[in-house]
Amino acid sequence: MYDVVIIGSGPAGYVAAIRASQLGLNTVCVEESSDSDGNSQLGGTCLNVGCIPSKALLDSSHRYSDAIKHFSDHGIEVNKPKLDIAKMMDRKSKIVNQLTLGVSGLFKANKVTQVLGHAKIIDSNHVEVSSKKGSEILETKNIVIATGSSPINIPVAEINHKDIVDSTGALEFKTVPKKLGIIGAGVIGLELGSVWSRLGSEVTILEAMDEFLPMADKKIAKDVFKEFNKQGLNINLGCKVTSALSNKKDVTVTYENNGNLKELMVDKLIVAVGRKPNTDNLLGENCGLSVDEKGCIPVNDYCETNVQNIWAVGDVVRGPMLAHKASEEGIMVVERIAGKHAEMPYELVPSVIYTHPEVAWVGQTEEDLSASGIEFKTGSFPFAASGRALASGESTGFIKVIADKKTDTILGVHAFGPSAADIVQQAVVAMEFGASAEDLGLTIFSHPTVSEALHEAALAVNGQAIHIGNRKK
Ligand code: FAD
Ligand code: NAD
Repeated sequence: MYDVVIIGSGPAGYVAAIRASQLGLNTVCVEESSDSDGNSQLGGTCLNVGCIPSKALLDSSHRYSDAIKHFSDHGIEVNKPKLDIAKMMDRKSKIVNQLTLGVSGLFKANKVTQVLGHAKIIDSNHVEVSSKKGSEILETKNIVIATGSSPINIPVAEINHKDIVDSTGALEFKTVPKKLGIIGAGVIGLELGSVWSRLGSEVTILEAMDEFLPMADKKIAKDVFKEFNKQGLNINLGCKVTSALSNKKDVTVTYENNGNLKELMVDKLIVAVGRKPNTDNLLGENCGLSVDEKGCIPVNDYCETNVQNIWAVGDVVRGPMLAHKASEEGIMVVERIAGKHAEMPYELVPSVIYTHPEVAWVGQTEEDLSASGIEFKTGSFPFAASGRALASGESTGFIKVIADKKTDTILGVHAFGPSAADIVQQAVVAMEFGASAEDLGLTIFSHPTVSEALHEAALAVNGQAIHIGNRKK
């Protein structure tokens, strides 16, 4: 009898499995994906076809476009760089392999048992695992569902894995498409659109909604829209795609925009319209679990399902589909199984879009706070006024700190600019400790760093920023 069976080895499952073993729980992790040698392919979406390969390509493409567009600003003249896509893809695959093998090594070091196969929950103490070798029943005291998510398919643009692809296919193009279409101006559309645009594609994004990045700060969304269009992502809002037809040469996308029927011809089309929870053949008839209207497994704040001893974490449950949220939920759950006190500060899950410049935020927006009737004050600082940002030629964007009007407690931090992800992370730490804008203002920041923009924005909340004209709020 195991203490815990974890289903799925993505950032939710593998992290939970390692922590469970550290806590002395007899742990097994079931994963259905296998590699070419027939071993478990650990790491889930994030390591194999998500966070890591996309960031490898974002970094490679950034260097390429930097060499073409910005080296000469620094007085460095180079001949036009030559692109070796096969080598770029090979580099990406090596990084993925290194990390997935790393998880396998960590499982061995932590004595996590690995089982290859598709898991189905029979009841709160039994999981059936089916594979080419047959099926077996695992007996357990607890079950943690960490089965993740998959791309949503839309019938008007069926994936053919050739010229109409999902995010996985978009990480594997063998040549740079001359014309690239993307359905969906969400995180994947912007990140992978940036990759291929930097490498030379003419990119057109068709977004159904009239609003761009509705979850972000309004001013940031406006600036990001302007900047990315300037960079070559032609983002079109309010577009209803009605068909995408592929012939051997290209793809014709038909869509409605402002009452007009329009056509777009592209070499490749990426469908990036969101992801759906993985629950196919997972919930046995008598296990007592079902999914909600979004396909998620319903859980409370502690990731407990309605069945005792069955828990669910990561992309398969409500909330943002983010690797760090998935991992922290996994850790919380196994700590609770081990009898420890653990909870998730959901309000402090940061979000990042790894474009250039980056977009990042944590906490609430002005719109959220106004809607809840909470009075607030704000301080902003433009990267154009940061010495370090100017020195590196990266002065686009700004950072905003929002604090409670009376208590000065920081309620949200929103950034668009150089190293926005790392700067906002500093705010996450401060907010975790309940910091006020004054606390951040009293903190010493190294000079010259782009992080000083956070310091100045925090000072600006109370009209004390040094390097901009202040306006007391
Ligand atoms: P997953 O990573 O999806 O893992 C679930 C695992 O469960 C899979 O390995 C699957 O094979 C296995 N499984 C499913 N069903 C069964 C079953 N019945 N039996 C056995 N095994 C099963 N997030 C970020 O935070 N930062 C990023 O930069 C980022 N970039 C991304 C880029 C792309 C292109 C994509 C697609 C996603 C990105 N994400 C990013 C999202 C991130 O990948 C997910 O939020 C994260 O992987 C979710 O982790 P998870 O463990 O819940 O699920
Ligand atoms: P998303 O939800 O971020 O964006 C999907 C977009 O597609 C939305 O703007 C939506 O309005 C639009 N859309 C939906 N249906 C459409 C249609 N029929 N026609 C046109 N537009 C349509 O989803 P995504 O970009 O596919 O990413 C999936 C998930 O992966 C996200 O939840 C995200 O959190 C995660 N992810 C995170 C990162 C990161 O953290 N940096 C990177 C990539 C992916």
